[in-house]
Amino acid sequence: MHKQRRWRYYCDFCKRANGSGGHILKHERGCTMNPVRLCRMCALEGKRQATLPELLAALTISLDALQSQCDHCPACILAALRQSGADAYTYAWDYAAAAKTWWADHNAREQEQDQRDEYNAMVAEEMRYENRRPVER
Ligand SMILES: [Zn+2]
Ligand SMILES: [Zn+2]
Repeated sequence: MHKQRRWRYYCDFCKRANGSGGHILKHERGCTMNPVRLCRMCALEGKRQATLPELLAALTISLDALQSQCDHCPACILAALRQSGADAYTYAWDYAAAAKTWWADHNAREQEQDQRDEYNAMVAEEMRYENRRPVER
């Protein structure tokens, strides 16, 4: 027999972990719990990314105001909702549905498959909005 110890790498902002440090470093930059995250969805669209304080200020007005503030970027909306400390049940908003629409609208295709997979993984691991029944306020 033999035994082996392996490093495991953890995101500083959420509970995500991986055997690859490079994977987690890349994840951390865009992690929706990172207050100074770099949004890859906004970058793909060539948009100026709204700052977290801007997003949180908009959210104090309404969910609609938040969506307008980031021009309906699903990742930025998710980041603001999570970092506002609101329970996932608070807002009737579905990341999975929003992301699906976003990708459908986003006109580039194949070369972004990796990023799409990554975002799908992010949803599954981090938030699970799609598994919760949203409740209207
Ligand atoms: Zn993270
Ligand atoms: Zn964004």
